[in-house]
Amino acid sequence: AKTSGRNTIRFYDASMQLAIDTRAELEDEMRLALKNQQFCLYYQIQVDNLRHSIGAEVLLRWQHPEHGLISPAQFIPLAEETGLIIPIGKCVLQIACTQLAAWQNDALTRDLTLAVNVSAKQFHEVDFVNQMQQVLLESGANPSLLKLELTESTMLENIEETIAKMREIEMLGVSFSMDDFGTGYSSLQYLKRLPLSQIKIDQSFIRDIVSDANDASIVQTIIAMTETLGLNVIAEGVENEEQCQFLELRGCHAFQGYLFSKPVPLDEFMIFLNNRS
Ligand code: C2E
Ligand code: CA
Ligand code: CA
Ligand code: CA
Repeated sequence: AKTSGRNTIRFYDASMQLAIDTRAELEDEMRLALKNQQFCLYYQIQVDNLRHSIGAEVLLRWQHPEHGLISPAQFIPLAEETGLIIPIGKCVLQIACTQLAAWQNDALTRDLTLAVNVSAKQFHEVDFVNQMQQVLLESGANPSLLKLELTESTMLENIEETIAKMREIEMLGVSFSMDDFGTGYSSLQYLKRLPLSQIKIDQSFIRDIVSDANDASIVQTIIAMTETLGLNVIAEGVENEEQCQFLELRGCHAFQGYLFSKPVPLDEFMIFLNNRS
């Protein structure tokens, strides 16, 4: 979405028959979407160095009855601004945890972790810990297979509160991954204090990793740092074999990206898993 002027958002997406012209209209449409269950989740596989499936990240999509599939980049910023991200995020967690619980009955999916993106507004809500507890209880999902992805800026927004909250959620058995790592300002000092299990190297560093010496050395530094801190590391946006091998040679053993699969709807994801096994 492009913001033109103060109050209008217009989508420049050829696949859309109609443009949603105003922020107010988009906001109304998002409320309707929640009510009418137009939000759905796509699944993108994560693999280890043997290319075995280790988990998936759920990525939000809006299946609009007239405008078709709308990507999160087009509505999440406004959802965050208006606070609608809170009920939307709750809905994402409910669907994801219900799915995770269902996976526990199938040998093919039993060991897969599921990563869920959590926005700053959602995480910093006063009762977020309760919400987590409730959704785990209601779904019956195994918390040790659930991973919450938070960005650096979310975590640094109120570091003391963040650490306390993360610890409480960690006590429920849930783990944390720092999303888009390298794009923010995390100091080692903070990293050491945050109860993280994983760091996710931002795809902007992966894109030209093979040809750009700066990106390559940044990634190498990140990997070395995760080793020092005893954290897992995963690279996102891996699109070709060269990038994957480059990363593997430097000690990164978990990958996500188009090389393995794009994010796909659940039924496709299950077919994909079946074909891989
Ligand atoms: P993200 O969490 O950094 O997710 C990774 C994005 O990279 C996804 O875009 C994914 O489709 C895309 N991607 C995956 N592999 C590749 C690759 O190999 N090459 C390239 N070029 N791209 C790749 P998507 O699905 O459009 O999501 C965009 C962003 O929207 C996400 O970035 C995340 O910040 C946000 N988002 C998505 N789902 C949710 C959600 O449920 N809640 C919240 N709060 N934010 C979400
Ligand atoms: Ca993510
Ligand atoms: Ca990311
Ligand atoms: Ca990103």
